[in-house]
Amino acid sequence: MTRILIIEDETTIAQLERDYFELNGFVVDLCHTGNEGVQRALQEDYSLIIIDLQLPGMDGFELCRRIREAKEVPILIVSAKKEEIDKIRAFNLGADDYVTKPFSPSELVARAKAHLTRYERLLGKQKPSAQDEIHIRGLFIDRASRRVFVRNKEVAITNREFDLLAFLASNPNRVFGKEDLFERIWGLDSSGDIATVTVHVRKLREKLEVDPSNPQYIETVWGAGYRFTV
Ligand code: CA
Repeated sequence: MTRILIIEDETTIAQLERDYFELNGFVVDLCHTGNEGVQRALQEDYSLIIIDLQLPGMDGFELCRRIREAKEVPILIVSAKKEEIDKIRAFNLGADDYVTKPFSPSELVARAKAHLTRYERLLGKQKPSAQDEIHIRGLFIDRASRRVFVRNKEVAITNREFDLLAFLASNPNRVFGKEDLFERIWGLDSSGDIATVTVHVRKLREKLEVDPSNPQYIETVWGAGYRFTV
């Protein structure tokens, strides 16, 4: 369900816009003044906002600026003002598009859909990617929150244990020597030695494995190091 907000004081235009968007499966809220519009826009969650420039009370420019300050949402301006200076001002205030009246309602809907798709693509990149979340045989590693779950139960894990596990799990089936792991996770200038790696692997096994003496996740490759097996 895509909810949009239309802020337009001319009732016939507002209803025309609403009808077209509803026909295209959108859920539409209408506001007729700038003040009401800014309240709704900031308090509620809309996927797209359409603003008329000339409104009673707060005008469309101010409305656009206020919404853009607070929200990453496509903003389309619909206006009788055709001068370039108004369009430039609207774009500078964060509008995504500027449609002049009289307009084709179908074109307005098409433009709205294009902006929604573009935003989804942009914001989609910020969602957790496959790399942020690792799921392997009952093990779930969430990099964003640095939490680890085994067979649906959260495991208490230290920072270094997490770094080591996340590193190995994101490079599956590759063998890393203890020196290499120590450098990557603890850093060259860290005090300590490669025995630290062994200790951390043992602790991880105790936390993750059903049988730590027969590990299914982090395997020892004799004489070479460790491998996260997938
Ligand atoms: Ca108006």
